[in-house]
Amino acid sequence: MKSFPVKEVLLGAAAAVLAYLGISGVNVLPVVFLAGLAWLMYQSASLRSPSATAVRSPRTVAVPEVRFEDIGGQAAAKKELLEAIQFIADRERIAHMGIRPLKGILLTGPPGTGKTLLAKAAAHHTDSVFLAAAGSEFVEMYAGVGAQRVRELFRRARETARKERKRSAIIFIDEMEVLGARRGSHSTHMEYDQTLNQLLTEMDGIAVDEDVQVLVMGATNRVDMMDPALLRPGRFDRTVNVDLPDREARLAILRLHTRKKPLGADVDLEAIARQTFGFSGAHLESLANEAAILALREGLTEVRQRHLVEAVDKVMLGEKLDRRPTPAEKRRVAVHEAGHALVGEWVDPGSVATVTITPRGRAMGYVRTSPADDKYLYTRSQLEARIQVALAGFLAEELVFGEASTGASNDFEQAVGMARHILHAGLSPLGIVDAENLNRGLEGAVVQQIIADQRELVAWFLAERRPVLEQVADTLVDVEVIDGEEIRRLLADAPPLPPVQGPVLPESA
Ligand code: ADP
Repeated sequence: MKSFPVKEVLLGAAAAVLAYLGISGVNVLPVVFLAGLAWLMYQSASLRSPSATAVRSPRTVAVPEVRFEDIGGQAAAKKELLEAIQFIADRERIAHMGIRPLKGILLTGPPGTGKTLLAKAAAHHTDSVFLAAAGSEFVEMYAGVGAQRVRELFRRARETARKERKRSAIIFIDEMEVLGARRGSHSTHMEYDQTLNQLLTEMDGIAVDEDVQVLVMGATNRVDMMDPALLRPGRFDRTVNVDLPDREARLAILRLHTRKKPLGADVDLEAIARQTFGFSGAHLESLANEAAILALREGLTEVRQRHLVEAVDKVMLGEKLDRRPTPAEKRRVAVHEAGHALVGEWVDPGSVATVTITPRGRAMGYVRTSPADDKYLYTRSQLEARIQVALAGFLAEELVFGEASTGASNDFEQAVGMARHILHAGLSPLGIVDAENLNRGLEGAVVQQIIADQRELVAWFLAERRPVLEQVADTLVDVEVIDGEEIRRLLADAPPLPPVQGPVLPESA
């Protein structure tokens, strides 16, 4: 049913009145001009208004259901956050002591580490309403729109809290670096700066005696890009680091995300936690989900360890590729990966978990290692060992086929990167260097020397272990995947290595 056309009737009536006045000899031109102008302004306002009122309806949840217990690991972040939000819980005492309220907390860390979860848990813990928006939603072509959205967001927060009869509201802004980038860093227009200024104004306006206490929680991975004014006391007072989970934390997250999944008796989540160094919480959630899908596809009613193991690879490297390599390519990849695996075992016994030549994502094959512990610090010999592992694929191909292929360029990048790391960390024969002002030629020469030395050592080792290398490669061609245990068994059966014939490393260059 069409509603009564009030607008049209009014316009018609106005036109009739004007026509009558015109006929009666009244000068109606100024009126017509003003009406036209008013109409134009109305049109442009209505064009803008849909976006102007948005942070496209901030995603409001009355009070989120997420609890701190639902977040695995992040013990330090949780503790800091809990302390910080005590300010909201204890408002009367804070006001009594004359302490200014905590207005902003910045959560920094890589994507998928649980920053949104932490903000939601903070809202749950403090019984606050929760509004989420992303920095990019504030950025528009039109001047003033971003600033208006910021105002609107704060207004909505207070209004929603009142409506829900809550005394506090948490505003969560993801991608904070978009909204909070250093002022003047956007050369094209001043819009960003206006938006940021509005945020600062709103934050400055937060007072302890308001009926609704507002807390802003920003999330970013680029705290270095943020405008210093945002990090000053009274704005984002606290910065909480939300890092990638370590092994224990990964285990905790895996436990959380497999809580509601039927797990087989053979499932060993600790082993999965060991193999997932560098995974974020979001990766682990996806891993648990993928494993359950794999089990379901097989028609099983419980998730087995092999599903989890396959899910690790899947999350790491994307879906299995349909493209199959030719038999010649397959053998080359097998030799290449066998090289990585044998040298991997040589420099760090027990570290190889599995080797496979099943292509996934962009990798044609890969060796997965499970180091005993997460590593953050490396000595020179440890870095050299990693260079050796990186070079091993190329050198194994060279040994077996007489020449290597293009499959190793990524390995070289790694090897060069690590050699440079040795140099810049002051661990090369040059000693401590100023990386910024280092002579390029000299840098290149030292990097090359480091790599050449490792190359010689690895070539010697592979030649000595050629029978095992070929054996592992043959098995790979056959069954496409080989376990670390199997490789260790083959190596243990091999005759002992003669004394190293590699280079005597020079003490000084
Ligand atoms: P961020 O905001 O840091 O990008 P999120 O909080 O949005 O990350 O996390 C995305 C998803 O990843 C969550 O919904 C959850 O399933 C999972 N996740 C991330 N970190 C954790 C964690 N520490 N514990 C449990 N699940 C997590």
